[in-house]
Amino acid sequence: MRYTLESMDPYLSGVKEWPVIKELRRSIPDSLQLLIGVNVRATSVRWLLDNEGHLNQCRYFLLEGQGGGLTGEGYALFSRWHQGQSHVRLVQVAICDHKVKSTSTRDECMHGWHKSHCTKCGLDMSVDSSG
Ligand SMILES: [Zn+2]
Repeated sequence: MRYTLESMDPYLSGVKEWPVIKELRRSIPDSLQLLIGVNVRATSVRWLLDNEGHLNQCRYFLLEGQGGGLTGEGYALFSRWHQGQSHVRLVQVAICDHKVKSTSTRDECMHGWHKSHCTKCGLDMSVDSSG
């Protein structure tokens, strides 16, 4: 199983609250540095239902696994007005708090093929490090 933009749409459009949402208290340069350093697919402006029940316009940076499939995880960058000032915030979001289970044989691992999946949501988390 892999996540797609369609399967993630209820969360990306703010209809459903993300099961995992974590505020990252970072400076703006640190936030941008983080987003530059990860393998992500940026979305156009979407909606984030935050854990205070507010709907915020945001831009998502969705994590991609090996081969380009979405992992159901990402970051949301948005700004909120508070006491007359705009504050940029970055939160980490995920549909699942993945729990990885490896199913490769020792021989497959030796050849760089690491079959694995999430025991909670079924996401294929296999990694091919042979190439
Ligand atoms: Zn999972």
